[in-house]
Amino acid sequence: MKPINRRKFLQVAAAAGTGVALAPSLAMGGVKNFTPKVWTDHDKPALLGGTKAHPGEFPSWPVYDGTEEQALIDALKSSKWGRLDGKLTAQFEEEYAALMGMKHCLAVANGTTALFTMLGTLGVGPGDEVIMPVYTFVATYNVCVLNYALPILVDTDIETFQIDPQKMEQAITAATKVLMPVHMGGIPANLDRIMAIAQKHNLPVIEDACQAPGSEWRGKKVGSYGIGGAFSFQSTKNLNSGEGGAITSNDESFIRACYRFHNQGQGGQSENYNPGAFEGGTRATNGRITEFQANILRAQMTRFQIQDKRRSRNIAYLNSLFNEIPGITPAKLYDGVTNVSHHLYMFRYDKQHFDGMSRDRFIQALSAEGMDAWVGYGHLNKEKYVTGLAKNRHYLKIYGEKTMKEWIERNHCPQNDKLTSEESLWFGQTMFLGSTRDMDLIAEAVRKIQKNAHQLKNQS
Ligand SMILES: *Cc1c(COP(=O)(O)O)cnc(C)c1O
Repeated sequence: MKPINRRKFLQVAAAAGTGVALAPSLAMGGVKNFTPKVWTDHDKPALLGGTKAHPGEFPSWPVYDGTEEQALIDALKSSKWGRLDGKLTAQFEEEYAALMGMKHCLAVANGTTALFTMLGTLGVGPGDEVIMPVYTFVATYNVCVLNYALPILVDTDIETFQIDPQKMEQAITAATKVLMPVHMGGIPANLDRIMAIAQKHNLPVIEDACQAPGSEWRGKKVGSYGIGGAFSFQSTKNLNSGEGGAITSNDESFIRACYRFHNQGQGGQSENYNPGAFEGGTRATNGRITEFQANILRAQMTRFQIQDKRRSRNIAYLNSLFNEIPGITPAKLYDGVTNVSHHLYMFRYDKQHFDGMSRDRFIQALSAEGMDAWVGYGHLNKEKYVTGLAKNRHYLKIYGEKTMKEWIERNHCPQNDKLTSEESLWFGQTMFLGSTRDMDLIAEAVRKIQKNAHQLKNQS
């Protein structure tokens, strides 16, 4: 019998007088050619001409519909396009603070502005040291350098991909002004240890939570542990308005001072506000967000928790599959982590379990199977862009040649070197907005590549 497609089947069924109600059982028997795809050891990797493990597309980003369209039109038709004119930004701030379980929120132009504003408000400047992880987006570094402070890059805890708290404490000197941990990939850094170190040394903490809106440590959202938290709504981030950012805080004086800093030194009045409380009171910029961004964020927030749950469910399942694959190790979570809002799926690749096949070849093989992984951040401390600071005219003037030479040495991060040069890999958050079937296919692809690693390594 020739294979019969569904349309033809329905025609045949209708002609034979069979009701559509019977279709399911008939369809099972009728379509003879249908055999579910079973992967076998003999399946060839797609890179060597085999079938792609994931033939379709992963979910696209951003996700929007009429809700976002209406939000933009509402902002447009209000004729009040900036926060100094309209009310939408203030509404967003209230809603976002509530979502994060915090008292105050200040929306700003982007995540970089959120960090820069907080450092400015704390009065960080020339001669000050700021402690941060080496394993982060370059923005964390840039905001220090913009203030002519000295960024001290701390080594990575290779298992969690987060800043190593012990090395963080060792990096503290008399010049240290702020601790700036990052919750990398959406996974909380070790906040118990970091907050204890901050208390012991009497240092403020600014949390770079740009990748972690909604992640929790001991039941409380990250970004609420330090004096302030920074969030990014840049287009790749989990909450997206193209560009955008926010500062959260439970300290009213601090958020008022941040408001002034981001608004040319103006505003921030309130009965409780003490303008002298923060050193940065005499410097300012324009870091304001627009009403369009604020209203898009309000629309995106209606999807945020649903998307977050879906990612978490898929990632929990993928972790269980990867647990069975030697040589693939997802980033571990510290004990205090009670929720992860996944921005990146960070994992380690051990080539010993793949017949010595390089990480780059593994990425190529995955890409051929229909899924993109990438190496992610590298060794920021060794990049020319960063090491060049030791020769910067202003830095030489402020810190002197000896200090800048020593700075290069202080930023030595052997664990991070090992992690980023050989092992680290990322999947992006949008890969986890689909079905559990997607997760099965990712794991199948990895198993297939592992079984054929010898051949993949030697053929190109
Ligand atoms: C995205 C990001 C930033 C900067 O945010 P922008 O909105 O792009 O300015 C800062 N830190 C980290 C860790 C980020 O991921």
